[in-house]
Amino acid sequence: MLFHKLAKVFEKVESKSGRLEMTGLLGELFREASPEEAERIAYIVEGELLPPYMGVDMGMGEKFVLQAIADGSGYSRKEVDKEFASLGDLGLVAEKLLSGKRQQSLHSEQLTIAYVYSALMRIAKASGHGSQDEKIKRLVELYHSAKPLEAKYITRFVLGQLRLGVGGPTILDALSFSEKGDKSLREDLDHAYNLCSDIGFVARRFKEHPHRMREFRIEVFKPIMPALAERLASPEEVVKKLGRCGVEQKYDGFRMMVHKKGGRVEIFSRRLERITPSFPDVVGEVEKLKADEIIFEGEALAFNEKEGRFYSFQETMHRRRKYGVEEASGKYPLHVYVFDLHYLGGKDWTGRTYLERRKELERIFPRGNLKLGEMKVVDSAAELQKLFDKALEMRLEGIIAKDLDAPYTAGKRKFAWIKLKKSYGKSVDTVDALIVGYYRGKGARAEFGFGGLLVAVYNEKKERFETIAKVGSGFTEEEMGKFAEELGKMRAKNAPADLDYRMEPDFWVKPKTVVEIAYDNITKSPVHTCGEEEGKGFALRFPRLVRVRDDKGPYDVTTVKEIRDMYREEAG
Ligand code: ATP
Repeated sequence: MLFHKLAKVFEKVESKSGRLEMTGLLGELFREASPEEAERIAYIVEGELLPPYMGVDMGMGEKFVLQAIADGSGYSRKEVDKEFASLGDLGLVAEKLLSGKRQQSLHSEQLTIAYVYSALMRIAKASGHGSQDEKIKRLVELYHSAKPLEAKYITRFVLGQLRLGVGGPTILDALSFSEKGDKSLREDLDHAYNLCSDIGFVARRFKEHPHRMREFRIEVFKPIMPALAERLASPEEVVKKLGRCGVEQKYDGFRMMVHKKGGRVEIFSRRLERITPSFPDVVGEVEKLKADEIIFEGEALAFNEKEGRFYSFQETMHRRRKYGVEEASGKYPLHVYVFDLHYLGGKDWTGRTYLERRKELERIFPRGNLKLGEMKVVDSAAELQKLFDKALEMRLEGIIAKDLDAPYTAGKRKFAWIKLKKSYGKSVDTVDALIVGYYRGKGARAEFGFGGLLVAVYNEKKERFETIAKVGSGFTEEEMGKFAEELGKMRAKNAPADLDYRMEPDFWVKPKTVVEIAYDNITKSPVHTCGEEEGKGFALRFPRLVRVRDDKGPYDVTTVKEIRDMYREEAG
């Protein structure tokens, strides 16, 4: 299949924001694609070459792309820089200048998707001494054969700026459409995707055997999408919903999924990044486990051995580092509270009940710093309240009640797990939101150059981000300085492509950082777009910063549906 076909679809997608239209366009493409092409299309649409946990990075900054455009188009570097200053988007610069190529290539040929994919892969893989020249050379080769429209999207892809606003759910819908003309295979596709988190792999398998997605099984070293907890406000509601249930403490650390097979151990974060190199101590403990082939999940907390207590979440996060690993592991030894089992001895355990999984965990753990938290089966609100109070006394976040009969609900927020947390201020819970912009400081804050954040939550149905608060308090002076510095580096000319907003900040930023926000209650406001109905969206009243959530990515923020549920809950 020609790459031009894909570029044409991108062009149309860019001008339409309706999810149904995008699904139709992509669906047609998938219908015509071979399994291998479908795999590549799925990755490219997501702005990736392989699933993120494989850690493939293009490693090309603006400077090198500017050079490649100059070399590929025959314009001088000065002329290219000038165009960039006026257009503000290197994709547009490439499109414009390459349409007037001064050096017409003699060897230009029509680009196929397979060719572009492998050329991009070669660019990504070039590393070490002289790699920048190699990357530029390969990109220039691509430009020589590319039509202007193709050059625009190749450029944006290389810079990680494709941002079409097409997420995994739309790709899965499109695959279903390509086979059935409707969404009827979506659930089967979800099942497969949640068990491997690899959109390209799913697309390829689907094209090979569209009706065998249900047979999909978990594999070691392919992290699955983590199960998510619902929230309820009181022990009574939890017992009403679940009846007899298993109660565990909710540890406030960071989540890890641990894979082991033969002599190899890998650790993945909640965002499915490979974080193994930061945790040699955990790897050591896992190597000693009797189980030879296992995937389990737990919450890691740094332990202060001198004082016999856990460090705070912020202190624990010191362990998530790439450098100075040894020193950090000496200073902040980790304890991992194991809470679930996904795979054991060649068998997928995600379909078994929580009680079965827990019993098996009890057989395998504890082991050194890999331990199992307490679990109590209760059937009354009074017992649940006691466990909740005890957790708070131990300075934990709260508890998680688990449905004894539920399978592991990969990638879904279901009532298999319900969290009950201590309340901050008057609200029952906090909200995790994406920073999309920030404000210049006024008055006393002018010296920090920082006056607050504009934050957004995620509308899963629309696959768009929607603003919910302007956060101006909860910052220490040190934090204000840090935000100003970090966000200053992330400034963007325009609002994120997949954001719906009415309020404009002083500066837009690349949407990457997630923050946890406490608030008093949820109200309706005409300035925010979250779950908007009749011109009013949900807004947080008295929002204040709790902390940065480094362990979460943009798509892990609170959803509009959760906000709506919380609003109704508050209203009684
Ligand atoms: P929160 O923002 O409330 O910390 P979250 O948004 O990270 O939660 P949720 O799905 O809302 O994710 O809540 C489940 C989280 O609680 C898991 O991500 C996990 O990291 C953590 N956790 C702590 N203790 C447990 C436990 N015993 N069982 C399951 N999850 C636990």
